[in-house]
Amino acid sequence: MSRIGILAVQGAFLEHEQVLSRLGVPYFELRQKRDLEESMDGLILPGGESTVMGKLLRELELMEPLRSRILAGLPVFGTCAGLILLAKQLAGGETTHLASMDICAVRNAYGRQLGSFAAEQEFGDFGRIPMTFIRAPYISAVSGKTEVLAQVDGRIVAAREDRQLVTAFHPELTEDLTVHRYFLDQLVASR
Ligand code: GLN
Repeated sequence: MSRIGILAVQGAFLEHEQVLSRLGVPYFELRQKRDLEESMDGLILPGGESTVMGKLLRELELMEPLRSRILAGLPVFGTCAGLILLAKQLAGGETTHLASMDICAVRNAYGRQLGSFAAEQEFGDFGRIPMTFIRAPYISAVSGKTEVLAQVDGRIVAAREDRQLVTAFHPELTEDLTVHRYFLDQLVASR
């Protein structure tokens, strides 16, 4: 059985823990360097504030070890701020973080007034699923091997590159388990 690390330095990690509990998948909270010694078959980067998470990853000396593991094929699923952490490029020339995935992300893309909204759209071949957006980014461009998995209003909101999966929305805030199952079945299990 796979064991998933959930980055728990800031943000909405508890909601991902609840989803994994519902799915009966073991997990642990990744909070400090020492936690890297745990056996980890996949990693979840939750929503939150990417600038704060990036700062903490650097201060806790987690940035480089995690980046190397992701580049070496550790399956990773980033939601919202997690998507921003994984992007190789951020619009406006903002400082990137793990910078492992061939996407360009636009932060706080829907503006403050429209900060939160719900939509329902196709996700890959899995049909329509509910999507909750909270001050969400979107993906303005993908390159290399990156595959688009979902779009809302013509904007890319989910993508995959090998074992890296990102969503601009928060599947952990709906009852729908499609995206977590996709991560566990297609990315973690294929490892
Ligand atoms: N706007 C946040 C950021 O830039 C992301 C929002 C979220 O994770 N819900 O990090």
